[in-house]
Amino acid sequence: FSYKTLLKGISGKFTSGDLVAIMGPSGAGKSTLMNILAGYRETGMKGEILINSQPRDLRSFRKVSCYIMQDDMLLPHLTVQEAMMVSANLKLQEKVEARREMVREILMALGLLDCAKTRTSHLSGGQRKRLAIALELVNNPPVMFFDEPTSGLDSSSCFQVVSLLKALAQGGRTVICTIHQPSAKLFELFDKLYVLSQGQCIYRGKVSSLVPYLRDLGLNCPTYHNP
Ligand code: ATP
Ligand code: MG
Repeated sequence: FSYKTLLKGISGKFTSGDLVAIMGPSGAGKSTLMNILAGYRETGMKGEILINSQPRDLRSFRKVSCYIMQDDMLLPHLTVQEAMMVSANLKLQEKVEARREMVREILMALGLLDCAKTRTSHLSGGQRKRLAIALELVNNPPVMFFDEPTSGLDSSSCFQVVSLLKALAQGGRTVICTIHQPSAKLFELFDKLYVLSQGQCIYRGKVSSLVPYLRDLGLNCPTYHNP
């Protein structure tokens, strides 16, 4: 075996109400970091993750968090409504009427009510992303992780999805996502930023403090290069 260090010296604090972006070039370690934060990768790691100053208990963390990976796994033969009811029906403590109402409210909030009867295989990329988010919102998780939620989307769908993440954060959640080269308009929706390069964090802070630095470099939008 030969071991390669994928991430080194990374630390940070995530607070509810913040929309956080993890950025950096391909291979920088964004997904690896996300897998660790979301609790999907625990081996071969030194360091600790604290929740409210206590060591993280993975089982209870999973109950309050969700991880939406880059490739969704929507069942193609189900309609949007049916897929949502499959999720909602796991909430046995709620009456059927209450589950239906919850599903309706989430679909409405995410602009998916019009395609409630559409099969998931017939949705656009942006609609699929929104449905993947809607399916998780049934559980109302306070912490949400997204790996590349905007990949493969045109600029207006990107804006729609990131605005949705922003609204989720503003509602008091902690929302952390990885993102590739957002436009300047998208960029300003984020509260905090972690920029990774070759497994190290080369910038960490408020987006507002990075913007002037980008302009100094003559960049409209962030483009990062490995040093
Ligand atoms: P992208 O933007 O392409 O998604 P990324 O920043 O998410 O890239 P990672 O997927 O985290 O990058 O990968 C970071 C580095 O770790 C890469 O060099 C990759 O080859 C390596 N890597 C990822 N997973 C493993 C693994 N399970 N075993 C060994 N190396 C891995
Ligand atoms: Mg990745």
